[in-house]
Amino acid sequence: MSDTIQPYIARRKAARPASPLVSLIVPVFNEEEVINQFLKVVSEVMTGAGLAHEFVFVDDGSRDTTAAILSERFAAGLPGRLVGLSRNFGKEAALTAGLDHAKGDVAVVLDADLQDPPELVPQMVDGWRAGYDVVYGLRVDRTSDTAVKRGSASAFYKLFNKLSNIDLPHNAGDFRLIDRTVIEALKELPERNRFMKGLFAWVGFSSMALPYERPARAAGTTKWNYWKLWNFALDGLTGFSTVPLRMWTYCGAGVAALAFAYALILVLRTLVFGIDMPGYASIMTAILFFSGIQLLSIGVVGEYVARLFNETKQRPIYLVRDVIAGSHSGKETDA
Ligand code: UDP
Ligand code: MG
Repeated sequence: MSDTIQPYIARRKAARPASPLVSLIVPVFNEEEVINQFLKVVSEVMTGAGLAHEFVFVDDGSRDTTAAILSERFAAGLPGRLVGLSRNFGKEAALTAGLDHAKGDVAVVLDADLQDPPELVPQMVDGWRAGYDVVYGLRVDRTSDTAVKRGSASAFYKLFNKLSNIDLPHNAGDFRLIDRTVIEALKELPERNRFMKGLFAWVGFSSMALPYERPARAAGTTKWNYWKLWNFALDGLTGFSTVPLRMWTYCGAGVAALAFAYALILVLRTLVFGIDMPGYASIMTAILFFSGIQLLSIGVVGEYVARLFNETKQRPIYLVRDVIAGSHSGKETDA
């Protein structure tokens, strides 16, 4: 952390309200098995720490009883609201919906499966009280993930940080606390491609890391598979870097230089040794190699064109079917 930001943090610290309202933003997709346990644990932690809070659940088109369970809980006096999306839009869109519907002074984004330990929330609030605008959870132990997932994640973070202008902290998930200023900043970002980790990093502000060990899912099953993760990684890279586009300029220049050198050799050889016809193998190799490269580069351009297409349609990021409000969503402390 550079020293230039310290006076800013001190000013932020002085301006913090004494008893902030914490919005807990939870995207849920078919989480009926774990949702009651989640509510029990989180409510206990928040009440125990004496933190005023509201739950902002975003039902991302669940096909089980998740929405029914939650609307019952809200009817029974749970503070906050349930934002029901019209279909499954994906976690990134659900998070965006949650941020749009949060009323708190700060928001904490967490998964419903208790993989983001709620016990850390009071520590995150302490970090916020100390003046930081973002307090993000850093997974020091990912043994609950498979070796393949850890390896591919690590490769992705390395590549992302090389190719983009922003720094994604390795092994930081979406689990984090953000100040109202940051929420408002995120709302300013209009893009349809919501790679939230990237957007969180892009908006900047002062941030602090909070290391933790990531436990396994409390119940239910993961909503991810490798195909989804691969596409997620592509969204992230193309959303924050134009290097994959620009590299073809240099690749093309390099190949052209080599071809020129080869042409010189051929001319000289013909002058010295006369015309000799064989060359089928080298011609075939060159044709196949270059058509491969051309298709690949057109494919990369296609990735960006597809994303441009999606952005220009200007469709909303998510659609809300209904919002079910809890008993009170104001700023009062609830027991
Ligand atoms: N989720 C969602 N929409 C989706 C997929 C997941 O809202 O399309 C939610 C899910 O209910 C959970 C969180 O996102 O609260 C993280 O999902 P999961 O635990 O399956 O991901 P993992 O922890 O395995 O990366
Ligand atoms: Mg999970």
